Parts: sequence; C-alpha cells; structure tokens
Amino acid sequence: MPETNRRPCPTCQGNKIIEGICEASSEWRGTSEDEKNDTQCTPDQECPTCHGTGYVEESCGPGRK
Ligand SMILES: [Zn+2]
Repeated sequence: MPETNRRPCPTCQGNKIIEGICEASSEWRGTSEDEKNDTQCTPDQECPTCHGTGYVEESCGPGRK
C-alpha cells in the first residue's frame, strides 16, 4: 500500500485550475449596461496549491491527530 495519501485539492476542489473571478471595481449598479466596464475578470490559471494535478499529497507529518 502506498504510504502517500492523495486528497482532492481543497483549493480547486480537484478541478486542477482556478476559475477566473470577475469583480466589480465599483459598487454594483445593475441599472446600467455600462456595468461591464467596471468589471475586471481574471483568466483561468493553474492551481498554485496542487500545480494542476487536482490533488495534494499528504506526506507523513510529525505525529497524527
Ligand atoms: Zn488545486
């Protein structure tokens, strides 16, 4: 049995990537079509936690809780 435990990455939930996030730089208006001008979206990027593997290896730490 492998001693290394693989767990789904808690950061990306096993999706291997971090989905782009759209944030409104100003207060939400919702009444104007210009609201998109104030929205900044980040592109999908590789998960920095699992490095795009979708899971993290849980190495043997000091002691077990
Ligand atoms: Zn991840």
